[in-house]
Amino acid sequence: MRLLIMGPQGVGKGTQAALLSTHYGIPAISTGDIFRYNLKNHTPLGVKAQAYIDRGELVPDDLTNSIVGDRLTQADAVQGWILDGYPRNAAQVDALDAILTELGTPLDRVVALHADHDVLLARMSRRAKLEGRSDDTPDAIARRLDTYERETAPLLEVYRDRGQLLEVDGSGDAESISASIIGILG
Ligand code: AMP
Repeated sequence: MRLLIMGPQGVGKGTQAALLSTHYGIPAISTGDIFRYNLKNHTPLGVKAQAYIDRGELVPDDLTNSIVGDRLTQADAVQGWILDGYPRNAAQVDALDAILTELGTPLDRVVALHADHDVLLARMSRRAKLEGRSDDTPDAIARRLDTYERETAPLLEVYRDRGQLLEVDGSGDAESISASIIGILG
């Protein structure tokens, strides 16, 4: 199973990716987590990405595409994967298409989670208190939601046109959302 999980910040992509990962026995790959790991460890990638992440902007595509390309060729991704937080703009859709064509491993489905703006803001501010992420400041949160609306939300149309989109209400409790996704995916 090769899946994308898409949706705005705070909709529960990471939670659903983790539950689906356990259910299907395939890795959940979050570009945000990969960046945060590199920030924490002050790697060259982390140093290059830091200012973008702190401002709530997208990290440049060349950096992001190459970490996804590398990650999808690792041994644990052979049986499938769940990508969380990628692609986020049209150029990343093209890059992912090219990576998957080269690997000969087509995408199966795209799960799009939806929730009202106030639900997203409430979840993000709760997470800001719990995790202390550098990009959970009010300014960065606003910028990330704006970038999602402008650059990422339109990508759902691409996957709808390809017949791969599965739209799910992300406002309920995590276990029942996961059960309904699994019910549809089989
Ligand atoms: P996330 O945890 O998915 O919200 O990602 C945290 C931050 O990492 C984002 O605000 C971006 O700065 C960066 N990031 C994560 N995924 C991507 C991506 N696909 N393209 C560019 N930047 C990304």
